[in-house]
Amino acid sequence: MGILLVILFLGLIVFLCFLLPDKGELAEIRVHNLLIELPEEYHVIDNVIIGNNYYSSQIDHVVVSPYGIFVIETKGYKGWIFGSENAQYWTQNIFGKKYQLYNPILQNQGHVNSLNNLLGIPKDRFVPIVCFNNDASLYISAPNSIVINRRRLKKTLLSYTAIVISSDEKEKIISTITSHMKVGKEAEKVHRFNAKNKVKSSNESIRNGICPRCGGQIIKRQGKYGYFYGCSNYPKCKFTMKVE
Ligand SMILES: [Zn+2]
Repeated sequence: MGILLVILFLGLIVFLCFLLPDKGELAEIRVHNLLIELPEEYHVIDNVIIGNNYYSSQIDHVVVSPYGIFVIETKGYKGWIFGSENAQYWTQNIFGKKYQLYNPILQNQGHVNSLNNLLGIPKDRFVPIVCFNNDASLYISAPNSIVINRRRLKKTLLSYTAIVISSDEKEKIISTITSHMKVGKEAEKVHRFNAKNKVKSSNESIRNGICPRCGGQIIKRQGKYGYFYGCSNYPKCKFTMKVE
């Protein structure tokens, strides 16, 4: 009888763990809760999957406002995050261990491109933002991008005050996005499959010495801080990678 109770109890814990959101989802929920506190003129659309069966983007949050279209990539990472604007990969340092992550600025640029293709409005109306957990320490050198902790998110959005989108335009943008976005588990599955293929072909290209962004040659270069890999089409292509 005692053992049965223990098994039941363990089963219940496992079941509850499945119900709880994972770290990424939790970060997205927290960001969502902040965004909906914004004034009414900010329209929040979560989990926007757009694209086709081969190439798709999954955007955590799109906020359509008179002051621009904010495209937010949420990262639930903790620890120290090191990275720069153009590096292909960033480094997460946590508990003395290092992990690589695909540069979220580049990831979010892809999201902006997809939205731009869909909406056909000027690129300067988009404001890409990478938003990390509050307990992530950011060591990011990216003067032309917004990479922030969650505590600065609302302030950052509210700092845009020039009206660049009319209310008619805004309604049109919202209806175009919501009518084209894919919803449901199946769409998420297709997107994960596409994303995996993209990473695979990018890694394969790098292994072959070919720039995954433009097809140029990857060459060793010397910079201010030592050697690194760059693209032969620099400055047109800004692909860089650390020499390990
Ligand atoms: Zn290149």
